[in-house]
Amino acid sequence: MNHTVKEIHSQFKQLRLVETAEELPQLLREAEKSSWTYLEFLEAITHFELKKREAKSVERRLKWARFPYKKTLLEFSIEAQNSLSERQLTQLQEINWLEQQYNLILLGPPGVGKTHLAVGLGIEAINKGFQVYFVTMGELIQLLKTEEFAHKSQVQMKRLRASDLVIIDDLMYMAMDQREANLFFQMINHLYEQSSIILTSNKSPDQWGELMGDEGITTAILDRLLHRVEIVHMNGDSYRMKNRQNLF
Ligand code: ADP
Ligand code: MG
Repeated sequence: MNHTVKEIHSQFKQLRLVETAEELPQLLREAEKSSWTYLEFLEAITHFELKKREAKSVERRLKWARFPYKKTLLEFSIEAQNSLSERQLTQLQEINWLEQQYNLILLGPPGVGKTHLAVGLGIEAINKGFQVYFVTMGELIQLLKTEEFAHKSQVQMKRLRASDLVIIDDLMYMAMDQREANLFFQMINHLYEQSSIILTSNKSPDQWGELMGDEGITTAILDRLLHRVEIVHMNGDSYRMKNRQNLF
């Protein structure tokens, strides 16, 4: 880098155009080689910085989402899941339901792809600029119960509450006591009409009452969850079992 380029490099950094600062020598070379106009050069700079920032922001949101694995919808085979049509999947993928604060409930036995579909939709939402948070029901109850005194839980719950989409995986995996059901209700109530929720469960909503104990709270929770909802029954065979590799 010659003296002037060095100076501009540092000025770009002062202006917090860090990405472009690093790319400056290449951009200059490209400009000379392709005889860019002033306007083209300016455009290349702003475009580069914006693209880099967007990529960083997607990266950050992916980290915050805490997905158990990063499987996309491209890796989700619709042929293996005959309870979901191509058209339905496309509709879900378009994420309009999220903008309208619709919830999504994915039901079905283990291994049919509930978590995969939820993660895939979560990644799609992140790529479209939304903030997403993934949590299992077990983790969520722990977070809610420790939020009062544990800083770590406060940080996570803050992210969860600020998210446009909250994925709660394996609802009703375990029975809740009165206090847990109460905390869960308060959280659902907070998210109601400001975020979307994807719930996965191997039990249908009419069985949720048994596990939440209190009938009043169950009704209140269901009332909010089911107000605007799309329910997908994924009742195929276990993908894991179908595709498992045999040793013999
Ligand atoms: P569930 O949450 O319903 O128990 P998962 O989503 O964890 O099941 O799916 C189990 C495994 O099978 C995962 O590795 C997932 O990627 C894979 N899988 C399930 N359904 C499909 C599908 N339709 N296409 C591709 N992979 C699938
Ligand atoms: Mg699962």
